[in-house]
Amino acid sequence: MSGIYPKSLEEVSSLLCSLPGIGKRTADRMALSLLDWEESELIRLSNLIGSLKEKIRFCQICGNLAESRECAICSDPKRDHQLICVVETPRQISVINKCGRFNGVFHVLGGRLSPLDDIGVDSLNINQLLERIRENDVREVILSTSPDVEGEATAAYLAEELSRNFAIAISRIALGIPLGSDLMFADAATMGMAIDARRPIR
Ligand SMILES: [Zn+2]
Repeated sequence: MSGIYPKSLEEVSSLLCSLPGIGKRTADRMALSLLDWEESELIRLSNLIGSLKEKIRFCQICGNLAESRECAICSDPKRDHQLICVVETPRQISVINKCGRFNGVFHVLGGRLSPLDDIGVDSLNINQLLERIRENDVREVILSTSPDVEGEATAAYLAEELSRNFAIAISRIALGIPLGSDLMFADAATMGMAIDARRPIR
């Protein structure tokens, strides 16, 4: 706020500015618009933010964010609990869930294999996944780690480990050209994956 606003407003703005996707100008506008809120709403917001860490925990089944022992997805009887989609972080759950094409449950690894960062098999929720498959008559596991070097390595490791231990279907999300884009701008690796993941029309 270039020093023209009171210190307390500047402090709020600089904290908001540390959120992803929020630049300094947006943070300034947000801080100023908070001044238009009722005081009771401001207190409600600060209380909710203040107790986030205390209230939010990890689902003991899948590792998603939850407010009790089980997350909203694991406790939903309408979901297909024999179909597990493996992701790296809880944030990826919301992306997949929003697409409306998946009605199974999730398993959060808590990261991906990364020897350089000292993240090995024991640092991820892999044993919990194996145990879950063993105990729940799981039919299929979809490996939805990111399509980068570490995500692919993690998916390859899991595919090997799962096929060695269980007679279940193991699939990898198809990768390829984003909708609405021009093929001219696709890189060779993405194009190659789109060709590999092609589907027959008839
Ligand atoms: Zn869960």
